[in-house]
Amino acid sequence: MPFRALLDLLFPPLCHVCKAFIPKAGELLICAGCLNKIPFLVSPLCTVCGAPFATQAGADHTCGACVIHRPFHICRSATLLDGPVQDLIHRFKYGSRVHLCQPLGVLTAASLAPFCSAAAPDLIIPVPLHRRRLRQRGYNQSQLIGAVLEKKWGVPMEIANLRRVRWTEPQTTLDARDRVSNVSGAFAVRDPKRLEGKRVLLVDDVLTTGSTMRACVEALREAKVAALFAVTVARGVQQ
Ligand SMILES: [Zn+2]
Ligand SMILES: [Zn+2]
Repeated sequence: MPFRALLDLLFPPLCHVCKAFIPKAGELLICAGCLNKIPFLVSPLCTVCGAPFATQAGADHTCGACVIHRPFHICRSATLLDGPVQDLIHRFKYGSRVHLCQPLGVLTAASLAPFCSAAAPDLIIPVPLHRRRLRQRGYNQSQLIGAVLEKKWGVPMEIANLRRVRWTEPQTTLDARDRVSNVSGAFAVRDPKRLEGKRVLLVDDVLTTGSTMRACVEALREAKVAALFAVTVARGVQQ
């Protein structure tokens, strides 16, 4: 029996989503059927915030909100928070299935590789958790995704500099307006000198209203970064 066949027998490669056996499994470990159900975000998108447009025709352009508010950072998500990805993220974040950082990170790295090449970041910074939340969950889901991106994209990750200095209620319990005030000023940079003039790529698992991301952006802007990009695995469908 060939070694590969033996390995498949002992440790059958099963789809992370539906648990079906995958005959020629790659590192993603998501079967073709489940992969087809992932709502990857494709053009036309807002060139700034990455929001998809309702019409499927036309080229990427700046959305109305970004024309008015001119965000400092440029953001992209790999998929909508729906279907198999919603299920994977839920199990990853709330079900302690830490190994799911691998398929989520791999699909994000592959889908957003052109964005990363164009952004040319010097370093990756995952959105930090407050140390109390880190103790509760036992891991920072954004840092685990960031570690996969670090390896795939060859961009070093820095984890200790951006800190969550204030405890905040979970954003999922709040509406859009309360989310902004809840996280505003919640982040601080410990050593701004290390970030000055750098191109920084923020990483988070999910973007919903974007208020957590914007609170990080405030702190990094004060540290005088040269450019700021953000990527998330998924984007909330209510946007
Ligand atoms: Zn499957
Ligand atoms: Zn926009």
